[in-house]
Amino acid sequence: MKPFAYQRAKDVESAVTTVAARPEASFLGGGTNLVDLMKMEVLKPELLVDVRHLVSRTIEPAHGGGLLIGAGMSNNELAADRRIRRRYPMLSQALLSGASYQLRNLATVGGNFLQRTRCPYFRDVTMPCNKREPGTGCAARDGVQRDLAVLGADASCVATHPSDMAVAMAALDAVLHTVGPSGERTIPVNELYRSPAEGPQRDTVLERGELITAVELPAAPVAAHSRYRKVRDRASYAFALVSVAAALEVRHGSVTQVRLALGGVAHKPWRATTAERALVGRPATEAGFRAAAEAELAAARPLAGNAFKVPLARNTIVSMLRDLTEGA
Ligand code: SF4
Repeated sequence: MKPFAYQRAKDVESAVTTVAARPEASFLGGGTNLVDLMKMEVLKPELLVDVRHLVSRTIEPAHGGGLLIGAGMSNNELAADRRIRRRYPMLSQALLSGASYQLRNLATVGGNFLQRTRCPYFRDVTMPCNKREPGTGCAARDGVQRDLAVLGADASCVATHPSDMAVAMAALDAVLHTVGPSGERTIPVNELYRSPAEGPQRDTVLERGELITAVELPAAPVAAHSRYRKVRDRASYAFALVSVAAALEVRHGSVTQVRLALGGVAHKPWRATTAERALVGRPATEAGFRAAAEAELAAARPLAGNAFKVPLARNTIVSMLRDLTEGA
C-alpha cells in the first residue's frame, strides 16, 4: 500500500472543501471497499478525510411519511431497524444478503452506493482496464465473462455494480441528499450512476468533494409487501449473478402496483420500468409475469460467457412475482 495522510475532518464544510480542492484526496467512511482497493494499489489516494463521525447514524421521519436515513449508519444498523423491516422488507433483506456480518457492521449506507465493481480485471493492476486506467482497453471482454453486464453495457466497459442495497433503493425510488462545493442537492438513486458510454472511469454523477449525507425513502405502502432475492455461486458472501427486488399489490386478480429492480446485470441497479409498465392493470398470472420479464430483457446484449443471465433473470423475476402474488 502507498503511504497516505489521514485527517479527521471537524465539520462537513471543511471535509468537502478539502476533498474538492485536492484530486488525490478521498472521503473515508467505513473504508471496507476503499481500503481493500488501496492495498491492491488500484486506488492510491494521498489523503483520506475521515467523515464517518460527521454524518448522521439515525433514521428520522421525512416529509410525506417517508424516512430519512443518515448516510453514516452501518448496513447492519439499517437492516435491523424495525421501521425498515416492517415498511421496506426488501431493503432489509438486500442488506443482509451482502458481505459478512463483520463487514456490514463497518460499511456505511453512503459508502454502499459507491462500491466499485468487483470485475477481477479492475482489481488486477497488471491487466488493461478502461475503468481503472482510461484508454488501456478492457481485459474482461476476452476474459472470464460470467459476472459481466447484459444490460446497459458499452464496448469500453461491461462491468456490473456490486451493491445489493442499491437495487432495493432503486426499486423504492430513494433519493440521496448530498453536500458539495456548490452546496446541497438531492439526487434520485435512479439518476446516480453514469453510463459506461460516458466514460467508465467515473461511476456516478457526484462531483469531486460531494458527500452523501442522507438517503430519503419516500412513503410507499406497496413496499410493505416486498422481497429481495439474490442468485449467486455460493450461499453466502458472494456477489449477485442476478438479483431481484420486487414489491407487488394485486387486487381482484390484477396488478395494481409493482416495483421491480435488478442487480448483477448492469453497471447500475437496473430499474425494470418496461416490465413494470407491462404488469400494471394486467392479470397477475405466470404468463403475464413471463411476458413482462421478457419485455424488459429484450434489450439484453449478453456475451458468450454470461448469456445464462438472461433466462436466469427472467425466471427469478417470474418466481418472485408469483411468490408475492401467493403471499398477497
Ligand atoms: Fe475494466 Fe470494465 Fe473491462 Fe472490467 S469490464 S476490465 S472494469 S473496463
